[in-house]
Amino acid sequence: MRRVFVFVGLTVSLCLGSVAVGQQPTGRGRGGGRGTPIQAGEACPPGTTEIRPRSCMAPELPAPSIVDYRPHSTLVTPVHMVKTAKYPAIDFHGHPQGLLGTPEGLASMGASLDSLNVRMMISADNMSGDRLKNTITSIRGSEKMKDRVRVLAGIDFRNVGPGWAQKAVAQLEADVAAGAVGIGEISKSFGLSIKKPDGSRLKIDDPELDPIWDAAARLKLPVFIHTADPQEFFQPIDYSNERWLELALFGDRRYPQDRFPSFETLMTERDNLFRRHPKTTFVAAHLGWHANDLARLGKMFDEMPNLYSEVGAVLYDIGRQPRGAHDFFVKYQDRILFGKDSFQPEEYPYYWRVFETRDDYFDYYRNYHAFWKLYGIDLPDSVLKKIYYQNALKITPALPQAGWPK
Ligand SMILES: [Zn+2]
Repeated sequence: MRRVFVFVGLTVSLCLGSVAVGQQPTGRGRGGGRGTPIQAGEACPPGTTEIRPRSCMAPELPAPSIVDYRPHSTLVTPVHMVKTAKYPAIDFHGHPQGLLGTPEGLASMGASLDSLNVRMMISADNMSGDRLKNTITSIRGSEKMKDRVRVLAGIDFRNVGPGWAQKAVAQLEADVAAGAVGIGEISKSFGLSIKKPDGSRLKIDDPELDPIWDAAARLKLPVFIHTADPQEFFQPIDYSNERWLELALFGDRRYPQDRFPSFETLMTERDNLFRRHPKTTFVAAHLGWHANDLARLGKMFDEMPNLYSEVGAVLYDIGRQPRGAHDFFVKYQDRILFGKDSFQPEEYPYYWRVFETRDDYFDYYRNYHAFWKLYGIDLPDSVLKKIYYQNALKITPALPQAGWPK
């Protein structure tokens, strides 16, 4: 008898919950599906969530903070871990930093790269002068690694004014003579914070810099450039910001708009630079921070044949749009390069898995970048080869060109 009563009671309250929710008075926030009503288009009050259309409720249990909520997916679906890339890769966005200066560092990096099938590391550590020379000497001294590491040359953007360009071009020529194969990584401080001697911000499209871009074209050096940062870093740090956690963790990623140029200002200057130097090959790092708007990057590729881009540290945006990203990578297969950025060997396999599989809904390696899972975009072999090594070889004639698969 008791059992029947419970069953009937439950049914009644569920029915009431779904039919009468909108008519419940405010303040009965818990239990029985009764919520706090809101108007259409209104957000739920803090601490509550929408449980039925226009009805909000607070959890009965204490809610975890954004930092502590780590649900385990119960989805069971085929898993294809990819430890080593299907084809030998060139990491165009390498920051092996300390590892290049000693035989032990080079050997340990070589072992990591072997296990991942990264055949070549391009150091984008903005080196010039003696530091670049010493690094190249160290690389050339390693029998195993001498053909597997190359170095980009840095440009010193301080004190841009009369005489700067001549000096910068001469330094670049010396760095190329020492073995540099390209320019980069030009850092985000170019545009965000570097000043001219008169105290004004050095704009990315400042005409005083033109001779260095022309020299890059003449010397056949790709220019690897990182401009700005994700657009959320320029926006208010509120609870609708997709990067709230990252911004809360790292103060140096916040660009308050009273102290920094806007995202769009930097993008405009950058695009002016690419347009004004059509003979110079530019590689926009991090998919130009447009991985969340691939159509925008596609328009840039269409308009600027001298533009290439690189995928480092934006896997979270590629892997959350598997169909769109697949089509984009196929369409622009001649313009995209593999690069990893921060050198953490255990993170490369996430890239291989996104590019090579059609796996569903799997973890990303940095939770604070993204609150979502990734999907494989299942690229065809011919596209993988271009992205992993052929495009880098094509735009960087000074790389060792022999011995790669056809
Ligand atoms: Zn970098």
